[in-house]
Amino acid sequence: MAESFKTDVAVIGAGPVGLFAVFECGMLKLGCHVIDALDHKGGQCTALYPEKPIFDIPAYPRIDAQELVAKLVEQAQPFSPRYHLGQAVTGLAKLPPGGFLLTTSKGAQIEARAVVIAAGSGAFGPNRPPLAGIEQYEGKSVFYLVGRREDFRGKRVVIAGGGDSAVDWAISLSSVAAKVLVVHRRAKFRAAPESAAKLQALADTGKIELVTPYQLHGLEGGGGKLSAVTVADLDGKVRRLEAEMLLPFFGLAADLGPIAQWGMELEQHHLKVNPASCATSIPGIFAIGDVAHYPGKLKLILSGFAEAALAAHAIYPLVHPGEALHFEYSTTSGVPKL
Ligand SMILES: Cc1cc2nc3c(=O)[nH]c(=O)nc-3n(C[C@H](O)[C@H](O)[C@H](O)COP(=O)(O)OP(=O)(O)OC[C@H]3O[C@@H](n4cnc5c(N)ncnc54)[C@H](O)[C@@H]3O)c2cc1C
Repeated sequence: MAESFKTDVAVIGAGPVGLFAVFECGMLKLGCHVIDALDHKGGQCTALYPEKPIFDIPAYPRIDAQELVAKLVEQAQPFSPRYHLGQAVTGLAKLPPGGFLLTTSKGAQIEARAVVIAAGSGAFGPNRPPLAGIEQYEGKSVFYLVGRREDFRGKRVVIAGGGDSAVDWAISLSSVAAKVLVVHRRAKFRAAPESAAKLQALADTGKIELVTPYQLHGLEGGGGKLSAVTVADLDGKVRRLEAEMLLPFFGLAADLGPIAQWGMELEQHHLKVNPASCATSIPGIFAIGDVAHYPGKLKLILSGFAEAALAAHAIYPLVHPGEALHFEYSTTSGVPKL
């Protein structure tokens, strides 16, 4: 049965800015539930560049993106946020007399007095190849990530793509799969040079077959069970590869998706906000971080942090009507418990 929850603030997006919003809300005794389509926290930092150093976080001359996320999670932890990961917010309805009901792709329902949208460029998902009928195979014989290597033992696996994920998984699965075929539209792979060299060495021994320059063309099979993948070269010549599994690795794409349909004023796929409060055009809904737009907006983590503080202060009177908010430095208040 789908679960129901009630909270002060629902934060959509567990990227760096959504995580810091939990801290800023917590400092004002506002409890948060945080929802993210990804099954891990950190947004772009974790999904796109976990090991890259960031140099413009105040007081950290250099910090790896993954480490920054770990510190933000730690900073939010005293306020016991409830995380709903691996599920996108798909629906939002206004509740009379105030507040909102959010629905997630896993059917969870979250009632909140205010909503903070920290959705970056939108929910991340895999770039899916445009192959007819691919949906029927997804999760059965077409996968966009490898959960367990063991699931590929003794199977004929087609891996499509030319980047690090495609090459690294081809190398890794070649020791358990019956056969790994790597389809790429160029003969040269974009992966790290050492990985590309290892791939070539395994191809030379026959453990891996490189199918280049080819692109995915079609799928054969039925009832979710794949029997072959067809590929085409640049002249349109089609080749049939017997396969039980397909792993397309074409990167991640972000999609604002349903958020763009909720009736808030948009500006070039971003949510228009009042820069003094980060309020959107719908009272009670705030937008911060990369998704928010106002004149002079800088898409930087540090701008998002300041926006989180502004939004939290603007939300306070919605959750505690009639209660005066006395501004206090954290050095004075400490970290108050909710
Ligand atoms: C390679 C690279 C290097 C960068 N280097 C720097 C740097 O040095 N300094 C700097 O300041 N910035 C840098 N940035 C930019 C920085 O990462 C972004 O500004 C920052 O991640 C924005 O944070 P955010 O929390 O607003 O959004 P994001 O990090 O994009 O997180 C948004 C989250 O919301 C989730 N989401 C969206 N829609 C939904 C939905 N409907 N339901 C559930 N979840 C949803 C997404 O899955 C995502 O996890 C860099 C970016 C890249 C790609």
